[in-house]
Amino acid sequence: MTLLRSGSATDTGLVRSVNQDLAVETGTLFAVADGMGGHAGGEVAARLAVDTLHVAFGAKPTGAGLSEAVSEANRVVFEHSLDNPDLRGMGTTMTAAALVNEDGKDVIALVNVGDSRSYRFHDGQLSQITVDHSLAEEMVRSGEISEAEAAVHPHRHILTRALGVSEDVVVDLWRIQPSRGDRFLLCSDGLTNELEPPQIAEVLATVPDPQVAADLLVRAARTHGGSDNITVVVVDVVVGEDDGADVPAVAAVAPDFTSPAPDEAPVDGPADAPVAPEEGVEVLPGPEPLRPSFGARWRARRKARRDARGRRLITVRTVLFAVILAAIVYAAFYAVRWYDTNAYYVQVNNNELMIYHGRVGGGVLYKPVRVERTGVTTADVPAYTIPQLTTGVQEDSLKAAQAYVYNLVASQHQATCAQNPQTAGCPGATTTTTLPFGATTTTGAP
Ligand code: MN
Repeated sequence: MTLLRSGSATDTGLVRSVNQDLAVETGTLFAVADGMGGHAGGEVAARLAVDTLHVAFGAKPTGAGLSEAVSEANRVVFEHSLDNPDLRGMGTTMTAAALVNEDGKDVIALVNVGDSRSYRFHDGQLSQITVDHSLAEEMVRSGEISEAEAAVHPHRHILTRALGVSEDVVVDLWRIQPSRGDRFLLCSDGLTNELEPPQIAEVLATVPDPQVAADLLVRAARTHGGSDNITVVVVDVVVGEDDGADVPAVAAVAPDFTSPAPDEAPVDGPADAPVAPEEGVEVLPGPEPLRPSFGARWRARRKARRDARGRRLITVRTVLFAVILAAIVYAAFYAVRWYDTNAYYVQVNNNELMIYHGRVGGGVLYKPVRVERTGVTTADVPAYTIPQLTTGVQEDSLKAAQAYVYNLVASQHQATCAQNPQTAGCPGATTTTTLPFGATTTTGAP
């Protein structure tokens, strides 16, 4: 028989204008969701996720059920973002704990996606259970970079897993045998960015009431900077197995950032075959106290974190999107430029017909340039064409523009000859005349 008592608190912090964190606190289910995605996105994602989690876990209150509820929450958030362009790209972290009964035994099932965390405070020791799904964290674990390098890595805040950003998500799941006196702490990164584990441990060690402890932790994070939304849920095991009774080992891990994760899940992305949530299931081995160097390493990480506010999620889709967008912008620029420059027009300027390179009225990216003075005046062309010529007559090429002017001159000449055959240059005349713009060099009649 296990009984739990809990308290929770959340705060916008001192920098952010809205609180996109959410806490869930029911008799048996507890969770923290840290939403992300501009405007309303983060709030919507966190709300949809916890509501779905609540309902889905209620329908199947087991460890596997909790993990499946997170997968279901992922699907709901993802589909909602597909249906609402305003909410594209929204997502949320999710860390949740639930009391379940499996094989007649009370077990605390714990799940995580993202960089919110779950800790267990047991026997005066604070141990981090969850492993952050951040790029820097994954790189440290795979041995690509050291802790020190991670602290200053440009991608240290990029999440490698979150709810709602792709069709499938890998969920980490732990099963922990609860002992009377255990305290579980679920929190968003707004708490762990500001407080070091020893500071958190001190509050948990000295404040017996879970609600008061939660309030105090949030207030302390505010005092230490409050650069992000802060959310805390404290869950106490008030009745349960006595410590060290028939439970062989305390199932919790120290925050050992250099050891492999409980599940070596792939980084989010369609290229990785989705791993069924059950494959992430693991009952963790015995206890391991906080290593002395942890505080120092944690301080370096916190300092680095403070440099970069906010987080982003990088996925194969994000990169693909950026590449395609760049290609579209590039192509559009050249299409417009080509359209602007692949044209000529004829226009009257100071009574003379001029040929310009470009578009009438000026192009989007290219200002027209005069390329030819024709020497043809408005007196040399039919009067009815002058209004159009004043506006500008568009042609496809320089040759076409020249031909257009030539034809105007020729047709005006024809009209003149029809009226007065003896006009110079007309077939009936006897003199030879060169017309403007080389329109004709007609010689006289034989
Ligand atoms: Mn946060």
